[in-house]
Amino acid sequence: EVTINKIAAGEVVERPASVIKELLENSLDAGATSIEVEIADGGTSYMRVTDNGSGMTEEDARLAVLRHATSKIKSVDDLFDIASLGFRGEALASIASVSHFSLTTRKVDQELGTQILIDGGKFTDCLPFGAQPGTTIEVRDLFFNTPARRKFLKTERTEGAKIQDIVGKLALSNPHVAFKLINNDTVSIVVPGNGNLMDTVSALYGYKVSDDIFPIAYESEGITIHGVVSKPTLLKSSRIWQTIVVNNRVISDKAITKAIDNAYHALLPKGGYPLVLLTISVPPASVDINVHPRKSEVKFEDDKPVFKAVYHAVLQALQNPLQ
Ligand code: ADP
Ligand code: MG
Repeated sequence: EVTINKIAAGEVVERPASVIKELLENSLDAGATSIEVEIADGGTSYMRVTDNGSGMTEEDARLAVLRHATSKIKSVDDLFDIASLGFRGEALASIASVSHFSLTTRKVDQELGTQILIDGGKFTDCLPFGAQPGTTIEVRDLFFNTPARRKFLKTERTEGAKIQDIVGKLALSNPHVAFKLINNDTVSIVVPGNGNLMDTVSALYGYKVSDDIFPIAYESEGITIHGVVSKPTLLKSSRIWQTIVVNNRVISDKAITKAIDNAYHALLPKGGYPLVLLTISVPPASVDINVHPRKSEVKFEDDKPVFKAVYHAVLQALQNPLQ
């Protein structure tokens, strides 16, 4: 079981930022309205996610860290079959198999919470624990027992930047949730979670809507798009400020990225990328979200309508910025 979890961890847990993404998605699934993330050394030595979501009973918590081993996977050679399984219910078990892991949780109607400790996949303790309602997960020394994976990581600065990026993107896709990120004892993200996308954008990027960035509101043929675009001259050196959300999931998608680039093409000087946030809703039946183990890509039944909608939405926002 420990080996299987470590193998699965390679697919779900690529780096500290993928741990943070899985934990934040769990917090959001648990109905959290306020989430605090703390990291040290790019997340490699320490990561903590604390939420005010539903919390878990002791029984729930014990189950949450288990993974149902599939009989198909008996050796590392079967690793290549794993990609097709979907990885449901595997994140916590995977993370706990490659770190010193603690889960502390309490349901609001319980007097006492529960703490579970796992070391490199080995269950070490489960005890009653005084805690606020909600859940805190701490992950220390990621990949301490898988040195090959640890070696694959970039510098702490780069790993920290990837965490910064995913927290920002999840904040943008959940403007009703308050997020705070503490990076090496410094608060680097605070968003209010007041439901106002524009306040979230200003809190993250420091830009005021209508000065430098314009709202998008677009609807056509069952596709709706909300978000913001920056004026064409407000450029970054990478796509770090481009966030694409499809049906409430932060994803990357070649067709959508191309549509954004095409819309800017006439206006955009070469060598930079504008700030773009697109929150796209498409009919659920027209998109498959389970094509990627980390759920970072989706497959559209047909990507032409999405391409068209994004292109027109961005162009319209740039042409009528004061609308
Ligand atoms: P999945 O999210 O695919 O179910 P995970 O391993 O990420 O698998 O989580 C396992 C289970 O643990 C979740 O289904 C949920 O019941 C519980 N859980 C995890 N994180 C939280 C949290 N922050 N608050 C409440 N429950 C949680
Ligand atoms: Mg999960």
